[in-house]
Amino acid sequence: MKFNKISITAIAVAMFAAGSAFAQNAEIGTWAGFRKGAASFTFDDGAPSQVSDCGPVFDKYGYKGTFNLVYNWNPNWSGFQSLADSGHEIASHSNSHGNNMSGEEASSKTNIGGKIKQKYGIITVAYPNCNVPNERAVLQNYIVGRICNGSWQGMSDIMGKNGPSNWAKTPAIMTGAEGQIKSTNDFTGQMQKAVQSNGWVAFLTHGFQGKNNGPATYSPTDLNAIDGALKWAKQNDKDIWVAPMGFVAMYIKERNAAKIQGQSSSNSMTFELSHNIADSISKYDYPLSIRVKSDWSKAEVTQNGAKIESKIESGYIYFDAVPNGGKIVVSNGNASSGGSTGGSTGGSVLEMYP
Ligand SMILES: [Zn+2]
Repeated sequence: MKFNKISITAIAVAMFAAGSAFAQNAEIGTWAGFRKGAASFTFDDGAPSQVSDCGPVFDKYGYKGTFNLVYNWNPNWSGFQSLADSGHEIASHSNSHGNNMSGEEASSKTNIGGKIKQKYGIITVAYPNCNVPNERAVLQNYIVGRICNGSWQGMSDIMGKNGPSNWAKTPAIMTGAEGQIKSTNDFTGQMQKAVQSNGWVAFLTHGFQGKNNGPATYSPTDLNAIDGALKWAKQNDKDIWVAPMGFVAMYIKERNAAKIQGQSSSNSMTFELSHNIADSISKYDYPLSIRVKSDWSKAEVTQNGAKIESKIESGYIYFDAVPNGGKIVVSNGNASSGGSTGGSTGGSVLEMYP
């Protein structure tokens, strides 16, 4: 490795001198991976086919969905646990699937959470029959409450980058026989709208045509249409972020509450990524996507001492970091090792906001 002491010093001086420019050099992505839009696929009623047929279609592309279970309908708990183990979100669709689930907001979370173990817990609820229960109880127990089509309630079907105006009324577009989304093109058309508007679209699916749907008999969807939609998403993965509803909700809330504080030395930059979202529903520790402007050709990134994946593209270093997850250190991969984290002397302390 060529090490030119004079030129490195010159760069360091330039960085300190341009302190305010440096402050603008760390950004949090609107969506994970700095994609342009987000899409969530949600599935209601715990159909057996969601485990046997739908899960494998998602696996083909490495995408994850949200599966909303009815506790008293005794779904295939071990099957849905395997979906949770592979990164899908399991969520509440009430205990009894009455006309309105009022009174079951907290207990269905506890009941389903007692059956399914998953990293982020039960943080999403989907209302049976699209009927909003006790909003206060919803917002005390979940970070997102899902209705059906926004347009059925005088709202937009596609959300903006900050999600719904009321998290107890998060819209999702009905698919299948009774919905307006039937074909692959119907799905991709909505996802394209989300990309174009930097927004978020969610879909609401029950069982599938010609599959074993158990109690999920309403509005069966052609699973091939979803397969085609996910294939399109994979081909456009740099633009569209496909992720479970609760995870996207965490991302939005963290992104809007997060603050980055940075400090630089010649061959490393250190950041604290933090927020103080004050509710006990979630730890809000879903990774946020960060990019830092840099002309380094090689970089190493660690958080709390552990190496994290990073890439360099078009003058930025990209990585995902967990808010309140410990110090982030970005080091010049071409600099000689040792002393790269001891840069507090003479470094500049900066406040950065997304
Ligand atoms: Zn239902």
